[in-house]
Amino acid sequence: MKFTPENYALPDIPMMPFIDAQEIENLLVGNKPQRQEIEAIVAKSLSKQRLSLQDTAKLILVDDPESVAIIKQAAKDLKKAVYGNRIVLFAPLYVGNYCTNNCTYCGFRTGNKDAIRVTLSHNDLIKEVEALEEEGQKRLILVFGEHRMYTPDFIAETVRAVYNVKKGNGEIRRVNINAAPMEIDGFVKVKDAGIGTYQIFQETYHPEIYKKYHLAGPKSDYNYRLTSLDRAQEAGLDDVGIGALFGLYDWRFETLAMVRHTNHLEACYNVGPHTISFPRLQAASNMLVDKKYEMSDADYARMVAILRLAVPYTGLICTARERAEVRSEVLQYGVSQIDGGTKLEIGAYSEDDETTQDLHREQFEVGDSRSLQSVIDTLLDEEYLPSFCTACYRKGRTGEHFMEFSVPGFIKRFCTPNAIFTLAEYLEDYGSDEQKQKGYQLIEKQILEVDSQKAELVRSTIDRIKKGERDLYW
Ligand code: SAM
Ligand code: SF4
Repeated sequence: MKFTPENYALPDIPMMPFIDAQEIENLLVGNKPQRQEIEAIVAKSLSKQRLSLQDTAKLILVDDPESVAIIKQAAKDLKKAVYGNRIVLFAPLYVGNYCTNNCTYCGFRTGNKDAIRVTLSHNDLIKEVEALEEEGQKRLILVFGEHRMYTPDFIAETVRAVYNVKKGNGEIRRVNINAAPMEIDGFVKVKDAGIGTYQIFQETYHPEIYKKYHLAGPKSDYNYRLTSLDRAQEAGLDDVGIGALFGLYDWRFETLAMVRHTNHLEACYNVGPHTISFPRLQAASNMLVDKKYEMSDADYARMVAILRLAVPYTGLICTARERAEVRSEVLQYGVSQIDGGTKLEIGAYSEDDETTQDLHREQFEVGDSRSLQSVIDTLLDEEYLPSFCTACYRKGRTGEHFMEFSVPGFIKRFCTPNAIFTLAEYLEDYGSDEQKQKGYQLIEKQILEVDSQKAELVRSTIDRIKKGERDLYW
């Protein structure tokens, strides 16, 4: 049954949490596994079975270099076998930074009196989207503070407005959102506006530690935030993204908790999260967090490899919070989506660069400020296939990561051709001559990976794109 604002009733009893911190802590003081056990867990993942919480904990307990190398190599192999070399690209668009919460790590928190507060006007929103389209972006994530202005109706209207902006051959084909938790009727509204993924991070899954960082406002209610994706599911919004903010507490705890959250969604709704994000804490205006739980680059790479093995069919996102070299490394171990050309200052996409270097205007510092063109260049150099594909979502094939993973030949038949088409569009509309040369060289190589009966059709579709047709997908 589809819930609508008319036919659902608010539950009398709030949804209950499903994280048992003690259970997770207990797993983290277990014995380190022997080599044979590590190999057995890794083999399980490579044979496309999802890892249990206990298996994942064992991989986390491993810290000798040889065993870590086994885990990383397995993650590389799994990624290659399951996903090929496509990397999906997107950009964040900050819509408004008014916020009633006081999250001690965030530049937008209500207690930060130096923050410059802005909500994009309708015209400014259009300008921002046009600027993003002129760069070649096709997929956006809209980001909002938590404030009474940013109601589900406001968010839904913003999403519709973004879809309506067309500049030249540009258009936004998928709008995801990262916004405060809603009630079920709110989720119905944003779903009806056509959002892709609703993303929300628990920040820290540890209930006691959570209190320390969330001093005021609705976000200080741990359970309400934790159960937001359950309400989304109740609203029929089953494309959801989870995440934790690394640097607030022990990374090993947060990694296991995200696996637990995945288990919970799979067990209750038969669908796991579409994506997992693992942002690391960055400097922010008047931030109030000490460095006790700062996560090293080495642990970060290890964590990505472990997650890849634990949840093989979930998209993994690494954002421009990370430096370019860190992103390059974790792409190998399983990251499947990155943002490019990212600007966090509100209104900055349509402004001159010189005016946009103010930490009080952004939520936190960006680690990778390369343009989309430059990110694509590097991907091409490293033989990744940049993709703006939105085919499954628009064809109603939900759970695409699961299909990639479980339907034999799905990647060869659908994913690779569709990624190629979006890259060809990008090259035609926005690529430099040099980039076109590199891009079409890679496309030629990729065509060899496509289902052999479809290779000619791929070529003729590329010809249609070269002649000016757009938005072709299977
Ligand atoms: N206000 C909404 C919320 O808190 O869920 C949505 C947007 S918030 C701007 C997006 C995410 O940015 C937060 O969930 C948090 O994980 C992350 N974030 C906040 N401060 C950060 C910092 N200093 N460094 C890195 N990420 C940060
Ligand atoms: Fe507000 Fe979100 Fe920042 Fe917290 S993380 S202060 S809720 S914008």
